[in-house]
Amino acid sequence: MALVPKKHEMPTQEAKVRARNFNEVALGYTAEVAVEEAKRCLHCKNAPCVNGCPVNINIPDFIDKVKVGDFEGAYGIITLSSSLPAVCGRVCPQETQCESKCTMGVKFEPVGIGRLERFVADYHLKNNVEKPTLPEQKGIKVAIVGAGPSGLTCAGDLAKKGYSVTVFEALHTAGGVLVYGIPEFRLPKTIVKAEIDNLKALGVDFQTNVVIGKTLTVDEIFDMGYKAVFIGSGAGLPNFMNIKGEALRGVYSANEYLTRSNLMKAYKEDSATPIMKGGVVAVVGGGNVAMDAARTALRLGADKVYIVYRRSLEEMPARKEEVEHAMEEGVEFKVLNNPVEVLGYNNPENPRDPKNGTVTGIRCIKMELGEPDAKGRRRPVEIPGSEYDLDVDAVIIAIGTSPNPLIKNTTEGLVVNNRGGIVVNEDGLTSREGVYAGGDAVTGAATVISAMGMGKVGAKAIDEYLSKK
Ligand SMILES: Cc1cc2nc3c(=O)[nH]c(=O)nc-3n(C[C@H](O)[C@H](O)[C@H](O)COP(=O)(O)OP(=O)(O)OC[C@H]3O[C@@H](n4cnc5c(N)ncnc54)[C@H](O)[C@@H]3O)c2cc1C
Repeated sequence: MALVPKKHEMPTQEAKVRARNFNEVALGYTAEVAVEEAKRCLHCKNAPCVNGCPVNINIPDFIDKVKVGDFEGAYGIITLSSSLPAVCGRVCPQETQCESKCTMGVKFEPVGIGRLERFVADYHLKNNVEKPTLPEQKGIKVAIVGAGPSGLTCAGDLAKKGYSVTVFEALHTAGGVLVYGIPEFRLPKTIVKAEIDNLKALGVDFQTNVVIGKTLTVDEIFDMGYKAVFIGSGAGLPNFMNIKGEALRGVYSANEYLTRSNLMKAYKEDSATPIMKGGVVAVVGGGNVAMDAARTALRLGADKVYIVYRRSLEEMPARKEEVEHAMEEGVEFKVLNNPVEVLGYNNPENPRDPKNGTVTGIRCIKMELGEPDAKGRRRPVEIPGSEYDLDVDAVIIAIGTSPNPLIKNTTEGLVVNNRGGIVVNEDGLTSREGVYAGGDAVTGAATVISAMGMGKVGAKAIDEYLSKK
């Protein structure tokens, strides 16, 4: 049988239309296309794709089930390793993970593993109404701090083993970055909600609006009878550039901007949530967060959106697909440019002028690539005298985030590294007995699947620890 060299296309909303609405961009495979795509898989013996997946999903076996139309069978195989397949099928960087190892990819395009995972998960969400059977209860309480992918995964795995799991979440909604960061047009909230409902059906209890370190401390959680704690509190503290003008009105961190749009529903026309709509917006950074902020700004009505990034397109850490989508939608990329100052309005004649202190522009300097740094990426170097001003009404800073020090500061004996990440051993155990951690709270800003992987490791280690007690 002749090999099909290219992945089956993912249908998407037309760029001009989608740039002004919040509906999902990628529309998903039909069953027929999924079966055809699955047939491209060679089911190679050594299955390199499995090693490329941080949670080692048995990819060839699930794809074999798709080939014969057994979509529920495929779902059963995926969920042996992953508790959030509808999420991962949408946002995992498959091009650098499973698909980068696919044997088909040596000569042709790799198999669309992510697209197939998404199809299988969506099929299950649509067609399966069976409630999971509850395991025999152990009567042992475990607490999870944070309802992002690491906490949710750890909670799910422990609930499946019969532990009584409570998730303490600081925000009013569970989901972590999946709900407050990643926008609706990439990951619909209904998908995350369905995954969380699955956990509730397994008996996981969610306590929202509880900030560990303020409402309760880790020590108080133990006093309440919990026998182990998993910290999955993420890395939600935004980094800034520390340049002049960053405190002006109209400068946002990407986290604040996206939270206002996503969780505080500023995307709704009648929303009272304050946010800049319209005007010219500059987003500083080149990762997924920068792409999400830029594309959200367009959808909120910006007349023009720039991405300002200090390296070149090749070094951009964002997923290629997200960069392409942003370009198609009309975001203008100013690569090899770095902001040196945010410019503001100041009327010396009238100190009470309401426009005083608002953003009017951003001063950038052009860059060129110099010698490679420790990671092998060529270092951006300023070109002297190349400064210029760009007129903008808002600036969104998306240059990374760090773990919030609140939990560390309120938990006796919890060791963190110099970037604020909680120090753990290979089992996710922290410096405190019974306290485990994973996800961005440990690694700093990373990926959904790596956070999930660490949630799994933590759940396994907690089970082993409590089984010995
Ligand atoms: C805008 C954006 C886009 C992204 N896009 C992608 C992508 O396309 N693909 C990808 O793989 N990754 C992406 N990422 C990264 C990915 O989302 C994160 O790596 C992942 O969510 C980390 O999971 P986590 O569970 O460790 O933390 P989080 O998802 O950050 O969840 C942590 C949770 O803990 C809660 N919390 C924090 N402190 C406390 C406290 N003291 N008490 C109680 N609760 C607390 C927070 O409110 C939050 O709900 C993106 C990130 C952002 C911000």
